[in-house]
Amino acid sequence: MMDSLLEYRNCPNCGGDDFDVLFNSNMKDCDFRETVDTVYMLPGSKYGRHVKCRRCHLIYVNPIEKVSKINQDYSEMESTDANIIRESRLRATKSQVQLIKKYESGTSLLDIGCGEGFFLLNASEVGYTAKGIEVSQDAVAYAQKELGLDVDMGHFGESQLPENYFDVVTLWQVLEHVPYPLMILKEAHRILKPGGLAAIATPNIGGVPARVLGKRWWNIRRVHINQFTTETLKGIIKNAGFKKVSSVSYWECISLSMLFIPILKYLRVYEPLKAIFYPSSILGKVMDKIRFIYPAKVDNCIMLGFK
Ligand SMILES: [Zn+2]
Repeated sequence: MMDSLLEYRNCPNCGGDDFDVLFNSNMKDCDFRETVDTVYMLPGSKYGRHVKCRRCHLIYVNPIEKVSKINQDYSEMESTDANIIRESRLRATKSQVQLIKKYESGTSLLDIGCGEGFFLLNASEVGYTAKGIEVSQDAVAYAQKELGLDVDMGHFGESQLPENYFDVVTLWQVLEHVPYPLMILKEAHRILKPGGLAAIATPNIGGVPARVLGKRWWNIRRVHINQFTTETLKGIIKNAGFKKVSSVSYWECISLSMLFIPILKYLRVYEPLKAIFYPSSILGKVMDKIRFIYPAKVDNCIMLGFK
């Protein structure tokens, strides 16, 4: 039964099929029937078998769940907490916009996997002609209706975007989720103008939190099927054709609500207690004001590359 739910893949960077197993999956047959949920720092996570390519050292999950199943799960993923995380996400993504402004003066921007559109909203407010593409129907509806943004629903690889068109392309926390990250990067390269900027961030499995926590690191999760270090992310970006690839940072921001929600979900008491987190409640306001701000680099790889 397991085999029909899984598919094997070669190294998503170099195409090699020679790897070492880092650790095995902890998922049982019944886990596959549960749809995936997107939350921050969920304790007791499920995860697939992690392997490391002997040729390029990329760490990736192999086998992965059927790509059709992954796509369906993302398409149906709900954005129920969007209003609760809104303020802290707006704050963190403002810092991402400032980073990009330092390196690129052109104004047409595409955010791939834009989610609810918090980054896009900030980018639009400082003058970018900002467009997003996103697979989650719920997130697209939020971005369009609540934030009034220009967002297409669908898969980036299948969208017929023009060549040499955008000044900036961004991939914030996307590449760790996709079965074919090199293909996504090559497509991002194709639609950029010559000299255009790509900004790419993923969790960093070579960072201190990952090394200290091992399998208990919050980014070892079912939905994360590629794991990058600064070196392997830089490698795959160069492989896609980008030049002058460099490591940078921005200020990450996490509210107390964002830390509590996954714990309550894990304890299965989130639904009855949810109302206390609403931005309209007093406790919700207080928990949203208490924010942890730290350099994103501590736990993430953040790269800039140019076409
Ligand atoms: Zn490889």
